[in-house]
Amino acid sequence: MCVPAPTVTIIQQPVVTTTVVQLFRESPVQTVCPYCQANIVTAIHYDVGTFAWLIGAAICFFGCSLGCCLIPCCIDGCKDVVHTCPNCNQQISRWNRL
Ligand SMILES: [Zn+2]
Repeated sequence: MCVPAPTVTIIQQPVVTTTVVQLFRESPVQTVCPYCQANIVTAIHYDVGTFAWLIGAAICFFGCSLGCCLIPCCIDGCKDVVHTCPNCNQQISRWNRL
């Protein structure tokens, strides 16, 4: 009996390139600045964004006036996060909470 030689099929595993997804959120991110090409860790600051305004509007809507609507504008957790390059001070990214 002639048994055909088993053919060894080499299954090539797809090469998974682990690209680090850079999430510009609430913490500084190490990245390469697209403006000055320097390897930097972004500097962050908070900016009053749409989210803070919406919270403020909601507070007003529910009858809590007397400046309560300004509270979200004072809480960093309600603000947008702006990432800037400490080297050239260009804005790299902005995280909108919406
Ligand atoms: Zn830069």
